[in-house]
Amino acid sequence: MKSNSNLAVLRVFAKEGSGFDIVSAGELFRALKEGADPKKVVFSGVGKKKEEIESALKAGILMFNIESEQELTFLDEVAGGLGKRAPISLRVNPDVDPKTHPYISTGMRKSKFGIDIKRSMEIYKKALSLSHLEVIGVDCHIGSQLTSVLPFVDALSRVREYLDRVLVGYLRKEGANVRYLDLGGGLGIRYKDEEPPQPDEYAAGLIRGLEGLDVTLILEPGRVIVGNAGILITEVLYLKENDEKKFVVVDGGMNDLIRPALYGSYQAIRPVVERAADTIVADVVGPICESSDFFAKDREIPRPQPGDARGYERRGLWFYDGIEL
Ligand SMILES: *Cc1c(COP(=O)(O)O)cnc(C)c1O
Repeated sequence: MKSNSNLAVLRVFAKEGSGFDIVSAGELFRALKEGADPKKVVFSGVGKKKEEIESALKAGILMFNIESEQELTFLDEVAGGLGKRAPISLRVNPDVDPKTHPYISTGMRKSKFGIDIKRSMEIYKKALSLSHLEVIGVDCHIGSQLTSVLPFVDALSRVREYLDRVLVGYLRKEGANVRYLDLGGGLGIRYKDEEPPQPDEYAAGLIRGLEGLDVTLILEPGRVIVGNAGILITEVLYLKENDEKKFVVVDGGMNDLIRPALYGSYQAIRPVVERAADTIVADVVGPICESSDFFAKDREIPRPQPGDARGYERRGLWFYDGIEL
């Protein structure tokens, strides 16, 4: 859901039979509103609130991906209050470096996400002792914008080793019907010169690591599906120049597209109307009173004119993620 929660887009995915990975009741509401099958919804995130847990229980989602021990006991309590049993998996942290930006690395030991894989056995035991929980899976998501299959394969082999031990050695013996393995998302896309693996290479890597394992696989791809499907069209307001620098001031800002402000990431910028023009080197900036409100720094671009892209009413919907216009 975090890659794009536009209702029309959700409707298309729901019609295609897609499931949804949510982190809030608002996202659940949006998915259900557009026809999502609740049995294909998984609830991730470290900060699930009571009312959010309740609405997910009432909707009958597939499972809660548990991110901490306290969340586990709290979920048991809330489910008990509703006279329900909550289906769960633990989000385990395999401590693999996805070699991506630190802000989108989620599976390392120092991350706020997931439960250290070494401690998770103990927490599974606890889950089995709680009467309003049903242990049905294992979950893992190591990060986003991965440009190599290797970290996925590493993570899977760690989770696999663990699964063989925990699943076969313990959980199934204790009567838990563990039947889902959720490997999260993370496949990267091209913004500039990255060469991320193709989905079939990713699939091949996973299939090799899954051989002989009797579980239903869940994947949560986000960026790779929608990242390059959207563009933001924004109007040029002013060209501003001082001794040091040039600025192109546009009417879109970091609230429309936060990646450059948040990660310093690269977004391709093209004129909507190509015309023969000289180029300038400038910062492309928005109207917000934060110096981090920029789309590009010292970027060589065709010299724009105030009013460029005026009249494009779809402005502000999405930004391009390196799309070929
Ligand atoms: C962000 C996220 C995803 C999707 O990651 P992409 O890189 O967009 O594929 C999947 N699962 C969880 C839990 C996430 O936080």
